Amino acid sequence: MGENDSKVALVTGAASGIGASLVRKLRSANIEVLGVDLDSSGLESIRVETGCSIFETDISKNANNIEVANQAVDQFGRLDYAFLNAGILGRKIEEQINPYTSSDLDPEHYTTVRAVNFDSVVFGTLAVAPVLEESGGGSIVATASIAGIVAWNRDPFYTATKHAVVGWVRGVAPGLLNQGISINAICPGGVATPLVGVDRLASADSNLLDPEQVSQAIYETAIGDGTGQAYTVKAGDSPIRQKFAFTSIEGFPS
Ligand code: NAD
Repeated sequence: MGENDSKVALVTGAASGIGASLVRKLRSANIEVLGVDLDSSGLESIRVETGCSIFETDISKNANNIEVANQAVDQFGRLDYAFLNAGILGRKIEEQINPYTSSDLDPEHYTTVRAVNFDSVVFGTLAVAPVLEESGGGSIVATASIAGIVAWNRDPFYTATKHAVVGWVRGVAPGLLNQGISINAICPGGVATPLVGVDRLASADSNLLDPEQVSQAIYETAIGDGTGQAYTVKAGDSPIRQKFAFTSIEGFPS
């Protein structure tokens, strides 16, 4: 029996892009996977391709995250890794080149973006933590963005919610450590996925990452040491995954 034969992971946003690439990676490492997404046909494709289990739900709601955690236990009896990866943009990619004013920013849409990008990470963390602890400890990796560290001024809702993900990871890490759980954030630059427009999938833009480069960085983070960290993943960096060094403020926790 290999070292991963009894390991179980859940991946949100599993039907597309980085999440689908991560499911492939985990399955090829012999890890059982529960893939979670809203997109039923994308989920079915990744199930057929990789043999993962699937669960269709909207992860922006707390109750659904609890259902997801229960589903992992019902199906596999344990959980070792939770990849909280689903996310959406705040402004359509084709509109992002246009200047905007506050009247273009819809408060209703803000609550949706916040719920998908950030609430889901808080709810997901709180739902999986008892299950990871019960399984003897584990690892959570949230997909934030470089926009979780710097201001992506074309998309302030996205920037704010991804900063919140990084803040959550850093803030909650000490508490989770007491339960034998690590939590880290991955902060990629642009990745060639449907999120940023399918046309760019064929792009020769050398600044655009392949989803596989990001899923590899996510996997390395999950199996590595350390907690409460944000790792950038940026084309051209070597190694491509780099721990971000936050500035400290004297008299406050770093
Ligand atoms: P993608 O659009 O290819 O995949 C995102 C998946 O999330 C989709 O399958 C979608 O159906 C799912 N999803 C969206 N809302 C959901 C919900 N409420 N419940 C369940 N599933 C939901 O995008 P991607 O590029 O693979 O993005 C994955 C993550 O990486 C996101 O958090 C994104 O913000 C982040 N990210 C992407 C890039 C990029 O350039 N593509 C850069 C940095 C960070």
